[in-house]
Amino acid sequence: MSELRKNPFTGEWTHYAENRRNRPYEFLHKIEMKQQGKECPFCGGNEEKTTAPLYQDHAGQAWTIRVFPNMFPAVEEGAEALSENPFYQHVACEGLHEVLVDTPNHEETIDKFTKEHLEKVLSVLQARYRKMRDTKRIKYIQIFKNCGPSAGMSIRHSHWQIIGMPVLPQRESLMEQYMKAEDCLFCKMLAYEKNVGLRIGAENRDFLAIAPYASRFPYELWICPKRHITSLATVKTEELASLADILHGILPKVSALREDVGYNICMIDGAIDGAFHWHMEILPRIGGFAGFEYATGSYINSVLPEQAAKYYRNKI
Ligand SMILES: [Zn+2]
Ligand SMILES: [Zn+2]
Repeated sequence: MSELRKNPFTGEWTHYAENRRNRPYEFLHKIEMKQQGKECPFCGGNEEKTTAPLYQDHAGQAWTIRVFPNMFPAVEEGAEALSENPFYQHVACEGLHEVLVDTPNHEETIDKFTKEHLEKVLSVLQARYRKMRDTKRIKYIQIFKNCGPSAGMSIRHSHWQIIGMPVLPQRESLMEQYMKAEDCLFCKMLAYEKNVGLRIGAENRDFLAIAPYASRFPYELWICPKRHITSLATVKTEELASLADILHGILPKVSALREDVGYNICMIDGAIDGAFHWHMEILPRIGGFAGFEYATGSYINSVLPEQAAKYYRNKI
């Protein structure tokens, strides 16, 4: 059974995916059990350990990017939900869950990728997004990457996840209300930030990387297209190169925050074909995420965004 249940008070959805209990987990009690090359399902040469690929850039073992369905999906095709009384809302957790492995090398991390390879990874993510968007019942697509066990990574080998869901998450639903193309608060925010300059971490022709005014996490950074782009699907080829360029500059600085720092890279979209200002969020995991945060939905952040931006502007 796989279903989504909506909290009737907050509008937040919780996924129930009982099959995920059985997935492998490499990190126990923060002591990493390093997968050897021959054990890891994502390593070059171990292709038979994954489901059949949906995409592979080169045949055989010469690949550098490979996409396949997740063996332990958070959503399922043809899922069914239990029926309940009218004030509880639920939806069958029907969707797609793919894994994109962005290097055949076990030890290589995204902060070491070349600009050209980053661009290629982004363009494959975009192609998968476009493909998934056309699938029936999918209303929202979440693309993300967990780097390091403190950021929820379960397999050390660098990879992305792409989850197509039948509902729009509450956070994106709330943001969407302020992102109508003709009157987008996000566009206004970017114009303001560019003007004051205090929270800009990096900038190039098409993108502005800002430490958001009300950052939740220390050194949180949003990579925002200057143009009002509604989804990953409509990012132009030259803009993907620009995005790769800005990531290439920023990611080594995220990694340098502290030894073995964990972080998440999330693409933030709205509902498919909805109004949104698409962007990426980089969320370093420094310090706790504990009782206070879970209870209140408020965050205690020890680094002011203005200081975080200054860190990103400086050379390491
Ligand atoms: Zn590996
Ligand atoms: Zn906008």
